[in-house]
Amino acid sequence: MQEMECPNCSIPMEYRTLYKQKTFKGVDIQYQTQAYVCPECGFEAGTIESAGNTQRAIADAYREKVGLLTSYEIKNMRENKGMTQQELADAMNIGVASVKRWETCMIQSKSMDYYLRLLLQDRNCVENYTGNREIDICRIKLVAETLEKHLGVRLLKDGDRFLFLAKYLWFADMLAFRQLGKGLTGASYAAITYGPQLNNYRDLINPISKSDSNKAEPLTEKEKNIIQQITERFPNEQEVYNAAHREEIWQESPMGALISYSRAHELTEI
Ligand SMILES: [Zn+2]
Repeated sequence: MQEMECPNCSIPMEYRTLYKQKTFKGVDIQYQTQAYVCPECGFEAGTIESAGNTQRAIADAYREKVGLLTSYEIKNMRENKGMTQQELADAMNIGVASVKRWETCMIQSKSMDYYLRLLLQDRNCVENYTGNREIDICRIKLVAETLEKHLGVRLLKDGDRFLFLAKYLWFADMLAFRQLGKGLTGASYAAITYGPQLNNYRDLINPISKSDSNKAEPLTEKEKNIIQQITERFPNEQEVYNAAHREEIWQESPMGALISYSRAHELTEI
């Protein structure tokens, strides 16, 4: 990577991942970007490449927040249908340039989003992003507490981003889906740099931490057994972290894309 000097301080800048917040089209969003940062004065300088990525990250954070399909979701759903960009454009009676732009930085209208879903979604595909049940925050808490009890460590830590908890939950949900045809929590998982993570985890951390596990649907014996299998397989956080990173279905997923439960049978670590 090329060296870059701070125009104020004339010292080398560092290339960093930055977590940003902004108001975009009247909506508060959070997104990641990369830039050179001066360690002395904090001056930031993006690159041409990061500018494109940032534009897409902003567009996707916005789309996620307002309930529109993200660029990754459009691309994944189209590919799962076995359609090319041109075929999708033809089916929608629009130019292929629009499809290309939606799969990067351009935000589709609500009506086009609805049209995309009609064409690209099939029932199985939709349900498999939540493991055939609705997301239940209290049940996520219950499963987390059960994992903690078996492991003898705290996974729900204050100010934590659930990096380890999310991986335990992912394996447990996927194993339950594989064995029982239904996940444990209804959570959706996205592929991020740190491995599989609860989708929209930033918005979920507080609600999960504050929720009451007594309000959750109790775990069945089979479900308890699945949680125990997971903790025996991964007795500590390092092992679950490494194992998640060895899974091809995470490695192959574009960053930000949802990981379907329908691929649970492809997991090699459980
Ligand atoms: Zn500086």
